[in-house]
Amino acid sequence: MGTQLEHLVKQAAFDAGFELAGIAAAGDFPELARFPEWVSAGRAGEMKYLESRDDKGQLRRASLRSAFPWARSVIVCAINYNTARPYSTAVNNPGRGWISRYAWGLEDYHDSVLRRVREVESKLKGIYPDEGPVETRSYVDTGPLVERVYARYAGVGWVGKNTCVINQKLGSWLFLAVIVTSIELSPDLPAPDRCGTCTRCIDACPTQAIVAPHELDSNRCISYLAIEKRGSIPEEMRAGMGHQVFGCDICQDVCPWNRKAPASEKPEFQPREGLVNPALAWLAEISEEEFREKFRGSPIKRAKHNGLRRNALIAIGNSGDRNLLPAAERTSHDPDPTISETALWAKGRLERKTPPQEPFS
Ligand code: SF4
Ligand code: SF4
Repeated sequence: MGTQLEHLVKQAAFDAGFELAGIAAAGDFPELARFPEWVSAGRAGEMKYLESRDDKGQLRRASLRSAFPWARSVIVCAINYNTARPYSTAVNNPGRGWISRYAWGLEDYHDSVLRRVREVESKLKGIYPDEGPVETRSYVDTGPLVERVYARYAGVGWVGKNTCVINQKLGSWLFLAVIVTSIELSPDLPAPDRCGTCTRCIDACPTQAIVAPHELDSNRCISYLAIEKRGSIPEEMRAGMGHQVFGCDICQDVCPWNRKAPASEKPEFQPREGLVNPALAWLAEISEEEFREKFRGSPIKRAKHNGLRRNALIAIGNSGDRNLLPAAERTSHDPDPTISETALWAKGRLERKTPPQEPFS
């Protein structure tokens, strides 16, 4: 297999709007060997989809060959979603919360990025010269594979100690898309690890969720708690959540490789009105109808209506802003037990004037 096909497929990725594209062999790389241990240690929290198994009982994400016996190559594409807005660590407005920057966009990235990668997939099939059946599958987050491992082996970026894929030029505000294919393509060189002795992400994580370099305990991670966790948030985790109401960017905000991360001009990544540093009182009392309307086609829907309200109430409890007491008081009578319990907790904190967490420097 020459390099012409590899060149054409990467060009197809750039034409589809991706900034980065690389090829990894469909191997079961050493990083994947740690996945079963991570799952059995309970680090995946309630994210049961990470525990899906094949008919031999093997974790599907631990072996690409198990999920796709025909796979020979994985094409990894990455697109920069950063926009020219401040980092969460630089903003400390009383009465306001923080939504992770990946979720500000006008369209759910799963849809917009999948559309782009499908363009690449169909061009690949069109340019593949051999006759005979070709298998391909495209995914944005939803495939039974650990995408970041293949991103590393495709040379797209290394996996940082915060577990994000980091590219030397673009930083880590990247959405990944993969095409698993039966076509044998020449792989790129793996991206070298450039974290060095840095530990800024580990030190900055307010809930100590990065339990070791490259190892995240989801049960402690604000991103998981705010988006995936249903029902009440364990009380001991709430103070560390600070002003985060959907996801958490802190371990990326402090990463030196994001200091000069370029901003994307792509329309779908530009923030919807009101989502950068949103008002907490608005979110705590948002009606189901407004939630549906405001977050139609947005990844924020994943937290669900009362999940987002719960998070806003925790941020209210952490704000030290007594102007938010009426919102906590009103929601403490909510019929949803998680909302009323969290509101009472927030109210108690504000009445005791519990000071907010120290802002980041
Ligand atoms: S996303 Fe937030 S809570 Fe999770 S590891 Fe990063 S800094 Fe910690
Ligand atoms: S903050 Fe430092 S250790 Fe963490 S991912 Fe970035 S470079 Fe690596």
